Amino acid sequence: MGVYELLERELGGGRVLRDEAALDSYSQDESRLGRFPPDAAVLARSREEIEIVLRLAAEHGIPVTPRGAGSGLTGGALPVRGGLVLSTEAMQGIRLIDPDDRIAIVEPGVINGDLQRAAEAQGLFYAPDPASLAMCSLGGNVAENAGGPRAFKYGVTRDWTLGMTVTLMGGETLKLGRKTPKGVTGYDLVAMFVGSEGTFGVTSEITLRLLGKPEAAAALIAVMPDPVAAGRSVSAIIRRGFRPRALELMDKASLDHVRSKAAFTFPANAGAILLIELDGESDALEGAILRCGNLCEELGAEEVIVARDEADRERLWLTRRVCSVALREAYRWKQSEDVVVPTGSIAELLRRIDQISARSGLPSATFGHAGDGNLHVNFLSNENPRDGDVAARIKTALGDLFRATLDLGGTLSGEHGIGIAKAQYMAWEQSAEVIDWQKRLKRLWDPLGLLNPGKIFPD
Ligand SMILES: Cc1cc2nc3c(=O)[nH]c(=O)nc-3n(C[C@H](O)[C@H](O)[C@H](O)COP(=O)(O)OP(=O)(O)OC[C@H]3O[C@@H](n4cnc5c(N)ncnc54)[C@H](O)[C@@H]3O)c2cc1C
Repeated sequence: MGVYELLERELGGGRVLRDEAALDSYSQDESRLGRFPPDAAVLARSREEIEIVLRLAAEHGIPVTPRGAGSGLTGGALPVRGGLVLSTEAMQGIRLIDPDDRIAIVEPGVINGDLQRAAEAQGLFYAPDPASLAMCSLGGNVAENAGGPRAFKYGVTRDWTLGMTVTLMGGETLKLGRKTPKGVTGYDLVAMFVGSEGTFGVTSEITLRLLGKPEAAAALIAVMPDPVAAGRSVSAIIRRGFRPRALELMDKASLDHVRSKAAFTFPANAGAILLIELDGESDALEGAILRCGNLCEELGAEEVIVARDEADRERLWLTRRVCSVALREAYRWKQSEDVVVPTGSIAELLRRIDQISARSGLPSATFGHAGDGNLHVNFLSNENPRDGDVAARIKTALGDLFRATLDLGGTLSGEHGIGIAKAQYMAWEQSAEVIDWQKRLKRLWDPLGLLNPGKIFPD
């Protein structure tokens, strides 16, 4: 009996998807890096089922690719070596929200936005807010150490993950971590598993930290004369002691693409905008947002638009949220990158992006989480990206962007991970020794190299 028949026998009839149509959606993800059809897919419903799959797959030498909602942008959920996709998308239970201990215990398939709403209904707050929060799963967030606009004040998924139940290739299950915010007992294995891109184990339960929901939030948009002034202002705002929960930047090209969708009219010569959001006690917020607006004017803002109420705040955010969609509508092809530089170097990176764009002949648009120095740089084209000349220009532009980022003391990925998209560039940032030690860690957790093979490290 083959492994898939054995799986059917242990999981129950109809649980192992094998027909081409059913497998199609598991052969791709939002990275659009290609189609990699698996031989089969299982939608796990429990930890016990995950154990069965990982035990039988290890016994038969079958590669397994864990998958959440498939919203990843670096191809982490693509079964590049075939085998089996193990999806946790059907495990959508929120098992506990405890207001006294301020924790949530969830299954990995819970959608980020669903947890946010469930926490808020009890006066609580889960901060990590990837722009994909309506579609991405918490299992995927943990595997990628997802961030978002609010990461500037509140940190990324790792800062909110207290514990997890994880099953290793072979079927052994471990309970890692704790329920308390503090704890230094032994090595921090939770921190190691968060961000491991589904290459160490498959999570079946996650314990997340919650906070009390901030009383109120206030936002403004500062229209800056040019991206360089916007970049410089980011450091100045932080230096003056402001701690916005979000400090986002959009360059002129991004702004031009969202003009028709935005609820505000920006001056035609606006060079960039900063979207700044503060939160805290309502009494203090009004004064704080006005002081922040005044500082932006001091730093050269040509106009400051302050949200007057909640609906206004939503409209300000719409400008930022529609950015990606607007670029996709305007161009046939969009390569979205996710680099990070120290905030003092944002202005210089923006200057170099303009040069790279001019050299390559590829239009660019840059926006992102400037408070963290994390910029999404988009190279755009209406030509076929597989065409030899265009493909070569794209490759050169990406290489130049990564070199500039590293040269400025930055890093290749702030929140989207490495996956297959950036594996070939790992050695540009990290020494051969550091990469080798990471591979040894991988072998420790997955000696047969069967869990999510082909990811993070170049072959
Ligand atoms: C429009 C858009 C906007 C986005 N904005 C952001 C953003 O602001 N910030 C951000 O950080 N990301 C963003 N992303 C990227 C993406 O949403 C995140 O990487 C997200 O965390 C992926 O979650 P997922 O459930 O879709 O995971 P998938 O794409 O299914 O998988 C991602 C990785 O997680 C692993 N994995 C999934 N589930 C498990 C599990 N149970 N156990 C072990 N490994 C698992 C997979 O093997 C894979 O390596 C965006 C994506 C899109 C399409």
